[in-house]
Amino acid sequence: MSNAPNQDLRFIVIGAGMAGILATIKLREAGYSDITIYEKNPKLGGTWYENTYPGLSCDVPSHLYSYDFAPNPEWSRQFSPGPEIREYFEDVAKRFGVFELIRFDTEATHCAFADGRWQLELADGSRDQADFIIAATGVLHHPNLPDFQGLDSFAGAAFHSARWDHDVATEGKKVGVVGTGSSAVQIVTALAGEVGELVLFQRTPQWIMPVPNRDYSTEEKENFRKHPGEMRKIRDEVSKAFIEGFANALVDADAPTIQAIQTACEANLEENVREPELRERLRPNYRAACKRLVMCAGFYDAVQHPNTRLVTDPIERIEPEGVRTADGSLHELDVLVMATGFKVEQFVRPMTVIGRNGVALDDIWHDGPSAYLAVTVPEVPNFYMLNGPNGPVGNFSLIDVADLEVGYILQLIEEVGAGRARELCVSREAMDRFNRERKQAAKTTIWATGCNSWYLDASGLPTAWPWTYDRFTEEMAQPKLDDYDVR
Ligand code: NAP
Repeated sequence: MSNAPNQDLRFIVIGAGMAGILATIKLREAGYSDITIYEKNPKLGGTWYENTYPGLSCDVPSHLYSYDFAPNPEWSRQFSPGPEIREYFEDVAKRFGVFELIRFDTEATHCAFADGRWQLELADGSRDQADFIIAATGVLHHPNLPDFQGLDSFAGAAFHSARWDHDVATEGKKVGVVGTGSSAVQIVTALAGEVGELVLFQRTPQWIMPVPNRDYSTEEKENFRKHPGEMRKIRDEVSKAFIEGFANALVDADAPTIQAIQTACEANLEENVREPELRERLRPNYRAACKRLVMCAGFYDAVQHPNTRLVTDPIERIEPEGVRTADGSLHELDVLVMATGFKVEQFVRPMTVIGRNGVALDDIWHDGPSAYLAVTVPEVPNFYMLNGPNGPVGNFSLIDVADLEVGYILQLIEEVGAGRARELCVSREAMDRFNRERKQAAKTTIWATGCNSWYLDASGLPTAWPWTYDRFTEEMAQPKLDDYDVR
């Protein structure tokens, strides 16, 4: 425990996913104990609770996608499956005293800042108050369901990838998957050969980075248990490789690393798709990493499985028997999976947030969500977001991003804890300057090189952190209080 901080401060953490668990552990470590976590789901884990589709895994290596204070010698593979990741978070939450602070099945619906404190309303009709709110509400969790004509008429089972219906058998069935994002690619790779027929509806092809994923042997796991330093070594190496070889390069479309990624993805396509016509249908007409890069070793094999069909004609409508495409064909299906992504502009919403003097977050965000350094918004004091808008959402481990953000937020809280301030949020001037600078910088990132993706705002500009990961680390080291409206 650090110097005993102001014990009277009360905290509400919204969301018991990876970031909410992390924030709570760090708050407790810093000596704060009056904490409640509200979680709308009956279990913790956030995205790792909601996504249960076949093939679910994290494309960040497991020894990096772990809290640095809780290495896990039991990871089964280099990129471990989703259920194992959810169990890891549950185990950490129990070991670090977070579990008992969570109120499950309790959605936060409204919060307002009044008389220097946050007043919170919950879906079950109860209320709460706190000095600080930490919104760890996640980024990609509001499913985007396309409004296909006739979807309701489909006689089979239809669901979104993040709402997988495990009561529906897929074995021996005709299964359609819409989309070619990271979710669809993992689903297709897992289901090919396991179902009667697999039909992949592709609107836009993807560049695929072939990343092998091998099991850890019993001996390796034993070695990790005996020598935890070995896990730290892997973590540090992978982290360095990710930052230097990837995250830092994404923000410079001309970086040689981006060219190397392009070359690797092109070679994957050339070498692993045998039939020239299929190869061309799978070839994107935009640059690699413009969309979020998909990492998968087995996807092209799955697409070439005798029971898999790639459909590139646009979907016209859904009929009781299946999907009708623009060329007039009917693709008969028993199950339709929409791996069609998420509404990314939501962040803490649909919860309503009212800051100082009745200012609504919805109004502050009328041109789209943004947050200074992804953490704070003007007029909304003592309310901090983890993995908020404009965060570094490149393919880097969001655990490390959240960790940096928590360290930064704790310093803001300390200003209040030590009696130097009562309320802190970014000033309007600093927010405007940040937005001007990030929009300018966004223009030269790889995400702005001519493709459609969830990174783009309504005007087509990338919203992600447009500078290097190293710069984010520097910014997070210490808040520049001159940029804050401190009262
Ligand atoms: P996504 O990347 O947004 O992909 C959605 C897919 O659905 C796209 O191929 C899109 O086509 C297609 N689509 C959307 N609406 C459509 C329509 N009306 N008709 C036909 N196709 C339509 O979503 P996601 O795959 O769920 O992934 C979202 C993000 O989640 C990823 O980028 C990643 O950050 C995260 N994720 C991570 C992992 C991991 O391993 N770490 C795994 C899964 C997801 P267009 O390309 O033409 O728009």
